[in-house]
Amino acid sequence: MTADPALKGKTAIVTGSNSGIGLGIARSFAAAGLDVVLNSFTDSEEDHALAARLAEETGTTVRYIQADLSDGAQARKLIESAGACDVLVNNAGIQHVAAIDEFPAAKWDAIIAINLSSAFHTTAAALPMMRAAGWGRVINIASAHGLTASPYKSAYVAAKHGIVGMTKVVALETAQEPITANAICPGYVMTPLVEAQIPDTMQKYGVDRETAIREVMLTRQPSKEFATTDQLGGTALFLCSEHAAQITGTTISVDGGWTAL
Ligand code: NAD
Repeated sequence: MTADPALKGKTAIVTGSNSGIGLGIARSFAAAGLDVVLNSFTDSEEDHALAARLAEETGTTVRYIQADLSDGAQARKLIESAGACDVLVNNAGIQHVAAIDEFPAAKWDAIIAINLSSAFHTTAAALPMMRAAGWGRVINIASAHGLTASPYKSAYVAAKHGIVGMTKVVALETAQEPITANAICPGYVMTPLVEAQIPDTMQKYGVDRETAIREVMLTRQPSKEFATTDQLGGTALFLCSEHAAQITGTTISVDGGWTAL
């Protein structure tokens, strides 16, 4: 990833960025010269060490700010305490897999809060900062499940469809300003969240790990390959570039052909 002079010194807040896709996006942003705020709910030594390592590797400012995004007030405080927010990536997310009649209500509430409502709160807090700065990018990490459905993922599919809808509203409300809002819809990306789904999938379908991956998880991904966190970072960075200034209110799929089926 090369530095983009137009982005140097701008501040990007990436929610849920101590692992997986969020960390991949944070790495791409830092390599391009953006100042980055890493976030998770954990506040561990490793979280702070990760920020320090990324800053050292890239020569940019990388801060870690803890916030539990299941709480709307903490989501807003994350943005406010960062002091600037030119790029907001709403990425934090969790998953739970169960038939709808067995789906624990507490899991439903947590998924809607973290995967959907947190983005409402962070966006509401970030837009005034973007307006004051005269430029902004809102990038929501939705999913192929923001455009299609799978059984056993009711809360996740509802939240991801919801965030695609909210993205369109934010784009319309900012259409005549130098601010864009878009959603990236990944198919399967190999991250801890996906890794955690493998045992459930093996059990539900009564198959081994390899079969669960190729025949169940990647059945709908025609490329038969996982996307990478680096590819997601590159896509997010493109949305920050001037080439993407007229791309707003839409979804970009990074799904190996999933939604073409
Ligand atoms: P991950 O488990 O590696 O990362 C999830 C991140 O969210 C972590 O940083 C975690 O700390 C954070 N998080 C969880 N609960 C939080 C909370 N209460 N407050 C603050 N942060 C919290 O998973 P990932 O695969 O990198 O997922 C990132 C996003 O990408 C999610 O929104 C997910 O739905 C989406 N996504 C992932 C895939 C995939 O295949 N991995 C596909 C499509 C969409």
